[in-house]
Amino acid sequence: MDHAGRQTRLQKLLAVHRLGALLITHPANVHYLCGFTGSAGALVITETRAVFFTDGRYTEQARTEIHGPRTFVSRKSPLASAGHWLATDGQKMGLKAVGIEGEHLTVAEHIRLKEALPSGIRLRVAPPLVERARMVKDEDEIALLRAAAVLGASLFDVALRAIRPGVKENEVAAEMEYAARQGGAEGMSFETIVAAGPRSALPHGRASSAPIPPTGFVVCDFGVILAGYCSDMTRTVYVGSPGDQERRTYEAVREAQQAAVDAIRPGVGVAQIDRAARKILQRKGLGRHFSHSTGHGVGLEIHEAPRVAAGQTEELQLGMAITVEPGVYLPEVGGVRIEDLVVVTERGAEILAPASKELITI
Ligand code: ZN
Ligand code: ZN
Repeated sequence: MDHAGRQTRLQKLLAVHRLGALLITHPANVHYLCGFTGSAGALVITETRAVFFTDGRYTEQARTEIHGPRTFVSRKSPLASAGHWLATDGQKMGLKAVGIEGEHLTVAEHIRLKEALPSGIRLRVAPPLVERARMVKDEDEIALLRAAAVLGASLFDVALRAIRPGVKENEVAAEMEYAARQGGAEGMSFETIVAAGPRSALPHGRASSAPIPPTGFVVCDFGVILAGYCSDMTRTVYVGSPGDQERRTYEAVREAQQAAVDAIRPGVGVAQIDRAARKILQRKGLGRHFSHSTGHGVGLEIHEAPRVAAGQTEELQLGMAITVEPGVYLPEVGGVRIEDLVVVTERGAEILAPASKELITI
C-alpha cells in the first residue's frame, strides 16, 4: 500500500486549509495513512513530518506495520502523547492551527487536548480530508475489495443450503459466519442480517431466534472483512411458492437495482444513481416502500463516503467503490432487497462479485 503517497497528498492539502498540522485519531483513517491496524493510535501530520503515537500494547505491532512515520510508544493514551508532542515539538515548529477530526473526537477528548496545548496553538475542526481521499480506491485496494467480495458472495451458497422452514435465522447466520472465518475473514463487516417472513420487512433485521416460516421472503445481507477491507451483499430468496404480488415486487426491485447499476459512470452525481432506482419503484407504485438510500461507499469501513442518496452532491469518480441496494418493505408482509458492491470504471460499473439475481425459491 502506498502509505507514503497518501501522507504526501494529505500534506499538500494542509496549506490549502490553513492548517499547520492534522491530528488523526479515527482508526480507519490512521490505518489508511500509515498501515497501523491496532485500536489505539494517533497520527500527527505536518507539512514536513508524520509522527505516530501508540501505547505499550502495540510496541511490536507498530514496529512491523509502520514504515515512515517516527513512532512514539508511551504509557499515556495516544491522544495525550500527541497533545504533549504538539505542545513541545509542535510549538517549537511554530504550529498555530491543528486540525482535528470533528466526527471522531469525543467532547471529553477535545477538552483534555485543548488543556494540554499552549494558548498559541488552536484546535480547529478540519474538513474530512482523509475520508475524501479514501473514497477513490487505488488498484491494490480494488484487488482487496474484490477478494473480500468474492469470499462474501460465497456465503450466499452457504445460506441457501441452510435456509429451510423451521430453521432459526440465527442458525443460518452462524453457518455463514463460520464459513467466513474458515475462508480467512477477520470478521464480519456488520452483524449478519437474516430476516425471514414478516421480519424481512425490517430493512435492518439482524438474524434473530425466530424460525423461518413455511412461506415468505428471506432477506440475507452479509459481508466479511478480509485483509482489512469490507464486503457487502444482499440477496433475497423465497421459501415456498411466491404469488403474483411477490414475484412482481421482487422483479421491481431487481429492475430498480439494475437501472441504478446501469446509470453508474464517472462524472454522474450520486443523487442521479439514487433517482434511477427510485424512479422504477415509483412507477410501480412501490416508491414509498423504498425507505432508505440506494447505497454507500465501502472500503476499510462498511459505511464510508460517498452516500448514494437524494440531496447528495458528490459525483462518481473512477475507482470509487459503492453499493447499489434498493429495497421494498411491505409492513407485515415482507421485504426484498438486492445489493451488489461495484467499482466505478471508465465504462461504467464493475460488479466485484457477480452472482445471479433471479428469484430463487426454496
Ligand atoms: Zn448490505
Ligand atoms: Zn450496504
